[in-house]
This record gives sequence, structure tokens and C-alpha cells, in this order.
Amino acid sequence: MRVLFIACLNGIGRVAGTHMKQSPYQDAEGKPLQPVTKDSPFLSIAFSAKELCTRCGSCSGVCPTGAITVGEDKYPVLDPHKCIACGLCGDVCPGGEVKYGDLAEQVFGERFIDKGFDGKVEKTYVGYATDERFRKGGAGGGMVTALLHHLLKIGQVQGCLVTRMNKERPWKAEPFIATNYEELCESQGSRYSIVPMNTLWADVREREGKFAAAILPCQTHGFRKLQTHDPELATKIPIVI
Ligand SMILES: Cc1cc2nc3c(=O)[nH]c(=O)nc-3n(C[C@H](O)[C@H](O)[C@H](O)COP(=O)(O)OP(=O)(O)OC[C@H]3O[C@@H](n4cnc5c(N)ncnc54)[C@H](O)[C@@H]3O)c2cc1C
Ligand code: SF4
Ligand code: SF4
Repeated sequence: MRVLFIACLNGIGRVAGTHMKQSPYQDAEGKPLQPVTKDSPFLSIAFSAKELCTRCGSCSGVCPTGAITVGEDKYPVLDPHKCIACGLCGDVCPGGEVKYGDLAEQVFGERFIDKGFDGKVEKTYVGYATDERFRKGGAGGGMVTALLHHLLKIGQVQGCLVTRMNKERPWKAEPFIATNYEELCESQGSRYSIVPMNTLWADVREREGKFAAAILPCQTHGFRKLQTHDPELATKIPIVI
């Protein structure tokens, strides 16, 4: 089976701001100014308007203190006692709104607003993986996995942010970082369920090296916001497919 592959080269985009800048909700020592409650204005959207949460995992992945975990239903769960009111979870949250003009300027350097559906497309190709296992195991020809494997092989990245079915609970999809051929084979195919991919940012922060991410549009939107609000972490993920 062949797949129409739309290549969107990530680049790094233009970034601004600094990691862990002083939040207006903290005192001079970085302590929260008020008791943190679920309607604190700096928190990501799940806590004030759950229906607008895409369950992308960005808030959990970016939180520097581990105050946000992911519940059984994949929605974020807050431990207010661990929160330092830094505002990063709200800054990177893609829920609630999409500012197309700002996104286009960040990624392409111009306020391009597409009148159609495809966004800004540099080039399109049709292809499939030449590795038979990738080709047969893929959702549509295995190109995504073949590209990730190539990046690992040439040493451009040391890990890939992908998904798989949980071994003990095979009906549950989970995000993980693949570092070799066999793990990439495990990650193949489409999981038509919510996978909070961006929770993996917390792992990326702890690991050495660079990473590629195979992620969906809402997760990519969270990543674009990460590039603006935590560029140090975002530069560890130079490629998004
Ligand atoms: C939820 C979902 C909806 C899709 N809807 C469409 C559509 O409407 N039209 C269309 O043309 N294509 C759609 N796709 C893409 C399509 O199914 C294939 O993923 C794509 O063609 C790539 O095929 P491949 O053989 O190269 O990928 P593979 O080599 O099989 O790799 C698939 C990659 O997708 C990742 N992945 C799988 N499930 C998820 C998930 N739930 N969240 C995040 N990452 C995931 C895997 O970890 C893997 O890296 C959708 C994919 C998903 C996951
Ligand atoms: S990122 Fe974590 S510490 Fe910062 S405001 Fe959000 S929950 Fe609190
Ligand atoms: S960052 Fe993602 S998971 Fe967290 S509240 Fe926003 S949309 Fe939901």
C-alpha cells in the first residue's frame, strides 16, 4: 500500500522567552503568591474548562515539579501542593484556541494564513518503506517509521517519541521513547485512542541527546508553544513528523 506523505520539515522555528522566567504569580523567592486552586489563572485549560482539553500531555510533560500527572482517563491531575505557580503548563497548553497567524510566523517566518485545508506545504511525495517489516507493519506504508529509523541510524537523534500498546494491558495505548529497530517495530500502526504524547517531555529533559517526535496536530501545537516558552527543552526535539 502506498501512502501520500506530506513532509512538514520542522526546523526549530523562532523562539523567544526564557525557561523558568519569574512568574507574576510568584514572590521574589519563586513561591506561589496565593494558594493554588484549580481556577488559578496560570494553569492549563483542563482545570478550568475540561471540555477544551485535548489530553495532549503537554502540561504534565513541561511541569518542572511533577505537579501534574495523567489520570486513568488521560486527563491531567493536579497536586496543588507541588505547584510553584510558574505558569509553564498554561503557556504550552494548546487547548482553547489556535492562533494560525502567530503559528505561521513562528514556523515559516511569515503571517501566512491558508485559505484551504492543507496549511503551508513545501513539497509532497508518494512513497513507502523499502524495509519489508516497516512496510507491512505500517499504518500506510511505514514511511514514518522508516524515517525515524534512518534518523536513529545516522545518529541525528538518540530516541523517538512514539506509541505502543501496553504489554500488561494490551487494550491501552501508551507513549514511549524508542531507541532501536525492534522498539520502532512495536510502535508501528495507528492507535485510534488518546495518547498523551507530550508527557514524554519530562523524560526528554532527563536524557542526553536529541529526539524526533511522531505526533498528532494538537500535540504539535503544544510543541510549538514549548519552543516559545521553554526553548532549552524544545531544542532537544529538532524533528517532528
Ligand atoms: C488518531 C489518528 C488519526 C488519523 N487520521 C488520519 C486521517 O484522517 N487521514 C489520513 O490520511 N491519515 C490519518 N492518520 C495517519 C495515518 O493513520 C498514518 O499514521 C500515516 O499515514 C502514517 O503511516 P505510516 O505507515 O507511515 O506510519 P507508521 O510507520 O505505521 O507509524 C505510525 C506512527 O504513528 C504513531 N501513532 C500511532 N497512533 C498514535 C496516536 N494515537 N497518537 C500519536 N501518535 C500515534 C506511532 O507511534 C508511529 O510512530 C491518523 C493517525 C492517527 C494516529
Ligand atoms: S507547570 Fe507545574 S508548577 Fe508550573 S504552574 Fe503548572 S502545575 Fe504549577
Ligand atoms: S496541555 Fe494538553 S493535556 Fe494539558 S490541559 Fe492543555 S490540552 Fe489538556
